[in-house]
Amino acid sequence: MAGTQRKTKQKQAIYDALAALDHPTATQVYERVHEEHPTVSRGTVFRVLGGFAERGLVRKLSLAESDARFDVTTAPHAHGVCRVCGRVCDLPLPALAPVAAGSILGGFHVDGCEVQFTGICQDCSKMNMRQSAQIK
Ligand SMILES: [Zn+2]
Ligand SMILES: [Zn+2]
Repeated sequence: MAGTQRKTKQKQAIYDALAALDHPTATQVYERVHEEHPTVSRGTVFRVLGGFAERGLVRKLSLAESDARFDVTTAPHAHGVCRVCGRVCDLPLPALAPVAAGSILGGFHVDGCEVQFTGICQDCSKMNMRQSAQIK
């Protein structure tokens, strides 16, 4: 019983860390959990995250050029990956939702979606503007 409770607590801590971070990799979740729960191993974090993804509690993202990232927002949405800082942002794209919810497109049954745009995030584009202002 005590073991089960400890596991539940670990899972909660892992979920909380995931929710507090912005599309983290498993390693980032582990580092965060480890600060408060030094006994939780890297293997546990990876295994629990995989379990969350299998049960549809979180989305596992396989974005180009990076390790798998995890997302607590399971509703269909697109991602923007910043070419400058590598940050992953949620992009509201309401048109995606009805398609991803189970459309049939040309005989293809859609049951999920992963849309990735590349570009420059808000912070980096501000920085860019500041830099070009200085050059003038
Ligand atoms: Zn950026
Ligand atoms: Zn997202």
